[in-house]
Amino acid sequence: MTHQAPIVIVGTGLSGYSLVKELRKLDKETPVVMVTADDGVSYSKPMLSTGFTKGKDAEGLAQAGTDVMAEQLGVEVRTFSTVTGIDTVAHELILGDERLAYSKLVLAWGADVIRLGIAGDGQDHIHSINDLMDYRAFRKALDGGKRVAIMGAGLIGCEFANDLRNGDYEVDVIAPDPYVMPSLLPVAAAKAVQHELTKLGVSFHLGTVVERVDRSEKGGVRLILGNGETLEADLVVSAVGLRPRIELAKAAGLDVGRGIKVNRALETSAPDVYALGDCAEVDGQVLLYVLPLMASARALAKNLVGEHTQVRYGTMPIMVKTPCCPTAVCPPPAGADGEWHTEQEGSDVKALFKAPSGAVLGFAVTGRFAVEKQSLAKEVPPIHQD
Ligand SMILES: Cc1cc2nc3c(=O)[nH]c(=O)nc-3n(C[C@H](O)[C@H](O)[C@H](O)COP(=O)(O)OP(=O)(O)OC[C@H]3O[C@@H](n4cnc5c(N)ncnc54)[C@H](O)[C@@H]3O)c2cc1C
Repeated sequence: MTHQAPIVIVGTGLSGYSLVKELRKLDKETPVVMVTADDGVSYSKPMLSTGFTKGKDAEGLAQAGTDVMAEQLGVEVRTFSTVTGIDTVAHELILGDERLAYSKLVLAWGADVIRLGIAGDGQDHIHSINDLMDYRAFRKALDGGKRVAIMGAGLIGCEFANDLRNGDYEVDVIAPDPYVMPSLLPVAAAKAVQHELTKLGVSFHLGTVVERVDRSEKGGVRLILGNGETLEADLVVSAVGLRPRIELAKAAGLDVGRGIKVNRALETSAPDVYALGDCAEVDGQVLLYVLPLMASARALAKNLVGEHTQVRYGTMPIMVKTPCCPTAVCPPPAGADGEWHTEQEGSDVKALFKAPSGAVLGFAVTGRFAVEKQSLAKEVPPIHQD
């Protein structure tokens, strides 16, 4: 029975659609069914934090409707269909009361936003933005507003801060960290971005947390911070991190770590089940970025047509979309031996992470040094060395 079943792909984000595009270059015939909990509209998620800068609302950021994608790719797309389980023995996906047989199953179901349990009756004013539908709801809620509070000063919090300032909103950023993006950038680069965002008008409240969000008389919310400060806002954006979706995979008996564990052929521990993108831990690496998922999609498409292929991650610089302070970073491997060497002129920072041998293992560049990202990337060894 199973050999007649389609390839089933769960998720129509960049991972799911990139995989089908790669697969259709190699095989136009094999039936493919895509299943997604959302509306299946194709969009580029990184653009969600650039809407005001680019003058685009949610409709402007949509790239193609579901029907167009289904037709172009020769696939069936089932929208608003939430997977509730996987029966790896029967080779069936469980969608509530329904079972869907698969010949091969690909999990491309992304990562969940972390939600903080915050006290107060203003919960419905807190928005997490992790897909186009979230963004649509956020823009609608923002309509007529003037002031936004952002929880989290990581990459996404900073990008939204810059973008909302470009949209002329008043922006407060609240985070427990001593400076922005502490897990991504060395301190000099982080402080340069923070300085330029501050010059742009962003107000930072660092070293503290939001303790309560209550509705205010004015129709917005009042935030109470751990340091005793009180802030008013029309709405709150929560940008406190993402966690790969592993629960259903774990319940189905798949090996999981921080993500769904796969080898470099993108195979999980269950036969004929693969994973890629934000939900996957590929050979020990959880990288919630576009370049790794594109490389994975190319390799997995080949595996799905029987050409055994291992994904190879090259050097993967991350661009931080803060136009007030252009920034690129290529973090050194976790636990690498070495230290940062920094050259700085105001908010222009060039930091190189060098091993004791002098080899460059990572870099961060801001301001006028940001243009050096391509040449520096050539000096950094790829993630997969073979
Ligand atoms: C604001 C923002 C800015 C970013 N900027 C950058 C950037 O500049 N550069 C960069 O490299 N990366 C960036 N990223 C990260 C990048 O966008 C993600 O790594 C990438 O889009 C993840 O794609 P994905 O397809 O794996 O997951 P997703 O896009 O999350 O797709 C998951 C899919 O699975 C479906 N799904 C989930 N659960 C179920 C279920 N139970 N049943 C059925 N369907 C399900 C969802 O409906 C969705 O279709 C950014 C992320 C954000 C949020």
